[in-house]
Amino acid sequence: MKTSVLVIGGGVGGLTVALKLAMCGIHVTVAEQAKSGIHTYKGELLQPKSLEIFHSIGLIQEVEAKGHRIHHIDIHEMKKRDQTFYETGKASMDYRMINSPFSYSLMIPHEGLKHIILKAAEAYPSFNYLQPARFKGFHHDEAIIHYHGEDLSIEADYVIGAEGRKSKTRESMNSSIKERQYDHHFLTVSFSRPASMKEGKMISTPYTFLGLFPLPDNRVRTVYLIPAGEYKNMKEKGISFFHRCYKELCPDLDGYVDEIKSWRDIHLMIPVRYHASKYVDGNKALVGDAAHSVHPMAGEGMNLAIQDGDILGELLCWMYANGITSPGFLKWYERVRKPRTRYVLNLSHLSALTYSKPFAYFPGFRKKGILQTTRDDRLHTKQMLNVSGLGIWKETIYDRLIQLGLFPVRSNVDLMNLQKKFMFTRSSDYPWKTEGGK
Ligand SMILES: Cc1cc2nc3c(=O)[nH]c(=O)nc-3n(C[C@H](O)[C@H](O)[C@H](O)COP(=O)(O)OP(=O)(O)OC[C@H]3O[C@@H](n4cnc5c(N)ncnc54)[C@H](O)[C@@H]3O)c2cc1C
Repeated sequence: MKTSVLVIGGGVGGLTVALKLAMCGIHVTVAEQAKSGIHTYKGELLQPKSLEIFHSIGLIQEVEAKGHRIHHIDIHEMKKRDQTFYETGKASMDYRMINSPFSYSLMIPHEGLKHIILKAAEAYPSFNYLQPARFKGFHHDEAIIHYHGEDLSIEADYVIGAEGRKSKTRESMNSSIKERQYDHHFLTVSFSRPASMKEGKMISTPYTFLGLFPLPDNRVRTVYLIPAGEYKNMKEKGISFFHRCYKELCPDLDGYVDEIKSWRDIHLMIPVRYHASKYVDGNKALVGDAAHSVHPMAGEGMNLAIQDGDILGELLCWMYANGITSPGFLKWYERVRKPRTRYVLNLSHLSALTYSKPFAYFPGFRKKGILQTTRDDRLHTKQMLNVSGLGIWKETIYDRLIQLGLFPVRSNVDLMNLQKKFMFTRSSDYPWKTEGGK
């Protein structure tokens, strides 16, 4: 079998690149190993840049209809005294600091989002979807896909490895990763929420952290930090222990978290961090978790995959439209995406560290840092812009000193304008178009 572009893996990253290619009339085949209808929990928070991408491919209305907007995330620092938690500090990270029509994030069930992208791609005749179809490896440069009980040999101009963490394409490219783990894990589960819980909320104590992110249909995604290895001990204490952990931090969840009847409903999430040594080799390229994995604290993993898919899809469309057959041009993709991803990896890692040892023992230090970041308009804008994926505005040493409380906070009235200098533009997203592909 022949196809122009073979995409291995039909996750958000693979589907985004495939949809862009199908929209350009390029013959694209996606091989997805999982049977349809299987629901696993994965990322649900769409950052502004991903929303901008869905706008550019005409899907924003459908995506918004299935999602719940979050404008700000309120952060509460708590401490225990006499068996009860009380608040020691409060701050709010506000997306409205960003100068974009997408100055909010959107919570959307992961499978619902994939369904929207897949349906849109299926409307194009050049889109070909094989499911369940498992990629087994390469034989003489052809991909071997197990489909309907037999091994198909697929010849493609380009192969995109979008099969997530355990990428066989990455292995075949001799692209290496060094996986790092953290001293904490997360429990995650969703359940009904009080109707008044409309914005994001993060509750931190010296020992743990509870994140609450409202989903549509009056549900809420929750993440709860536990020390690595603690999961088994917690399970032994029974499900009522889990309910207590949530309710002591957020009494509003009384009557809601109790919906969770068994530990089987709760997922254990083990955060890892890695960055592939290369994204491109010959006619092969990696997108999403095949290329990188970030700590989930900043809610970036799914967004990076979508953003990879956008850039690689745009580049391949341009190459086909301009009759460029040299795979060397794929390097443009790595040139744009790798530094941006490296920055987000560090940003997420830093956020994770503030909840790891030894910082866990210094909640006052963390509280100060978060409070200063939201009080100082410039720092606040930088933080939200960097998280949004719409640009990178790096922190300076002066910013760090403000975070530490060594310098006074600034209020700056012209930040809406100033941040534009640090926002990605069409020519920084797709530089080969303006630089003639040189
Ligand atoms: C428990 C959990 C919680 C997360 N929480 C968040 C979050 O809150 N926010 C966030 O932004 N990100 C989060 N992430 C990360 C986010 O889900 C991923 O970064 C994102 O899904 C990556 O997309 P992807 O398309 O690269 O890979 P995936 O979504 O992993 O998709 C890869 C696809 O490839 C298929 N596949 C694998 N091997 C083969 C093969 N050999 N042949 C054919 N198909 C194959 C898989 O079945 C899968 O469908 C979370 C991840 C997990 C696991």
